Amino acid sequence: MIEVSQLTKTYGAITALDAVEFKVERGDIVGLLGPNGAGKTTLIKIMTGYLHPDAGTVRIGDIDVMDDPLTVQTRIGYLPENAPLYPELTVQGYLLLMADLHRMERNRHVDAVLEAAEATGLTDRLTQKIGTLSKGYRQRVGIAQAIMHKPDLLIFDEPSVGLDPTQIIEIRSLIRSLAEHSTIIFSTHILAEVEALCDRVLILLNGKLRSNARLDELQGATDVVLVLDRDESDLKPILARHPAIGEVHRLPGANGQARYRITADDAQEVSPLVYQTAAKAGWAVRELYCETASLESTFNDLALRN
Ligand code: ATP
Repeated sequence: MIEVSQLTKTYGAITALDAVEFKVERGDIVGLLGPNGAGKTTLIKIMTGYLHPDAGTVRIGDIDVMDDPLTVQTRIGYLPENAPLYPELTVQGYLLLMADLHRMERNRHVDAVLEAAEATGLTDRLTQKIGTLSKGYRQRVGIAQAIMHKPDLLIFDEPSVGLDPTQIIEIRSLIRSLAEHSTIIFSTHILAEVEALCDRVLILLNGKLRSNARLDELQGATDVVLVLDRDESDLKPILARHPAIGEVHRLPGANGQARYRITADDAQEVSPLVYQTAAKAGWAVRELYCETASLESTFNDLALRN
């Protein structure tokens, strides 16, 4: 459904996106996760045809976004980071205007407004001025305009930013219900949001895509964690001699200790092997345990290695 290849964008000396590549399958809810300044908005603006990259391509269905941004924009629903809402318009006045901008057939406008209002819980707010709505309801108006032309791809930039906990829960359940009919990609810097909603998570750090995995894969893997009194420069090559041992990542350790995360198909089976190897090499083992990765530990590991 979406194919992003080698996408690069710089602003002067800042590389906002660095050769980003991924694919999104139809029907998935994809969370684009990254801290402030990671490049999420830049990526979304390019995917929706509002910004030109320095290099790379985005295909949505059979269309190259850079070749035909206007057609792409009629086929997707986009909620920008700060959706431009007109405070003096009523909800229905704004949605009718958006029906026009989405180039919908005129005889569909009223039905489309009513259906979008129903889906977003705005039916009893249609005659209210947007400027008098709460932030959560304004966000619903932004989502209503994004879904009213029934696109099969929805792209939301930080849909729950600035909302209170009740509003966040409401917007999440709205996103979940929209996912019954659409593919959804949304950006966030909130791990819990990704855990609550997503099938797939893309982790963007400093413009680089550092992880692209199904959520259950990220959460399920169990690794061995080895803590030594000090760093051992020959640890990686020594452990790499054992085929059952996967990757070894150095994590920051407290009080001069060295902490390593060791991946393996079967961590329980591999941990005695790690212990024996450490004993033979004379490393001062402080701790050795198995840990099931969470999205949080994966994200932190990636951020610390960045
Ligand atoms: P946030 O979560 O804070 O919205 P983000 O992940 O969406 O961040 P971007 O807004 O894409 O990140 O910004 C990526 C980098 O590019 C940042 O360093 C930002 O300062 C920079 N940047 C974005 N837009 C511009 C611009 N128009 N001119 C110069 N630098 C920019």
